[in-house]
Amino acid sequence: MLPTPTRPTVRFLPRRSPRPLADTPAITVIGVGSDGRFPPSVTPDQQAALLAAMRQSGTALPLRAGQVVPLRSGILPGTTTVIAGVDGECTPAQARTLGGALAVALRGLGDGGADLDLPLGPEAAAECLSALRLRLWQAPTYATKADPLPPTVTTLHWRSGNPASAAALWQAAEAVCEGVELARDLQTLPANILTVQTFIDHARALSALGVEVEILDRKDLQAAGMGLHLAVGQASATPPALAVLRWRGGPAGVAPTLLVGKGLCFDTGGICLKPAGGMEEMKGDMGGAAAVIGTVHALARQRAPVSVTGLLALAENAIGENAYRPGDILSSHSGLSVEVIDTDAEGRLVLADALSWGCATEKPAAVVDLATLTGSIIVALGHDHAGLFCRHDRDGDSLAAALTDSGQRSGEALWRMPLSERWDEALKSDAADLRHCAPAARLIPDALHAARFLSRFVPDGVPFAHLDIAGPSEIRRPLPWAPAGATGFGVRLLVDWLTR
Ligand SMILES: [Zn+2]
Repeated sequence: MLPTPTRPTVRFLPRRSPRPLADTPAITVIGVGSDGRFPPSVTPDQQAALLAAMRQSGTALPLRAGQVVPLRSGILPGTTTVIAGVDGECTPAQARTLGGALAVALRGLGDGGADLDLPLGPEAAAECLSALRLRLWQAPTYATKADPLPPTVTTLHWRSGNPASAAALWQAAEAVCEGVELARDLQTLPANILTVQTFIDHARALSALGVEVEILDRKDLQAAGMGLHLAVGQASATPPALAVLRWRGGPAGVAPTLLVGKGLCFDTGGICLKPAGGMEEMKGDMGGAAAVIGTVHALARQRAPVSVTGLLALAENAIGENAYRPGDILSSHSGLSVEVIDTDAEGRLVLADALSWGCATEKPAAVVDLATLTGSIIVALGHDHAGLFCRHDRDGDSLAAALTDSGQRSGEALWRMPLSERWDEALKSDAADLRHCAPAARLIPDALHAARFLSRFVPDGVPFAHLDIAGPSEIRRPLPWAPAGATGFGVRLLVDWLTR
């Protein structure tokens, strides 16, 4: 059973609307610039009283950008005044920091409304509100006696110099928040609840938003010759599948962008079994597919004027008498034969067939795959960056630059890694066209081998990016816009890239 999520409603009103509002706010939030200027709505007497209350609480002006001070006082309408340090010309990163700090400050202050008077333009307001909402996201829980969640605001009254434009930008941002929340929810669900079959149900639900949904089941995968994908899922009680999500908001005749997500509902490692410690985290090995479904959801909710095909490569890497084995030789959709070395390197197998099928079927203008693919990328980059791999040619360089820019703007940072043909040597097989990983290379440089392996299944001339999101897809320490846990990494990045 999923809890009722905390998703405050946002209403925009002109900056100089009278206070208090019809539904008296429980909390008033005001922004004070680094020059110490209060909003015009605060009278000199109220300013003096607020400054005295700040001194009592041990704080003083100027506040750092993003610093938030809650004051329990009735100086302004409501029981609590929250003072936030804010600069009008703030960067997206500063707006997110502010939004996250506000979310933390507002949590537990009661479940009424809040009246926010912050000197932010419409773009920064949307970014701040996105971070606020996403920080309040809560992981689904099935606990029957969970502690009640602290009450938090239900309505945010946001004062703006341009409420119409702020509302329009927020409407688009809210769609992205929904996509991120969907991705996080799916990442968090355990593998007995989010099976291949129930993941397909979530995919089908997108048809209500105007997305064309097609499901390739096991028989369809067999007919299409997708032997790599089938092998990975062949020991599971829930057979593998490929979910195809087509959003066609762009002009007719323009080639779609192909997004491919690794959707391993659970990864035991197969016969090359993973160690027991931490194996429960493998319920999140579908973070790439979660990002793809979240992105398509956001685009469809925005009615975005772009055309995208999202592929969810779904399977469970189980063990059992039907499990695929090291040494098996598989035939891929592309026609290349592949020797299996380590059955725990299953992600690149399902992705390879999905990439090949997607390029042949959709004739895309560009391809991006996302996958919680390797441990070695975490060794290299930690949890702050996803690894970005593009071919080192003009198309690859410009795709890498555009994605890196979107990563900067969205806060979902990418770091470019080499994609070298030199690794072909390591991927040579005596018995097949290639092997999918090098023996005993689970760590360095497995992420590089994986990227090169995948690129062999994308035809030359199709701009291709591989994002290894194993690090940032799950975090131990909160970010301004994400509590610890599943992040939905990729949704904000891809929507920015596709719609800019
Ligand atoms: Zn694995």
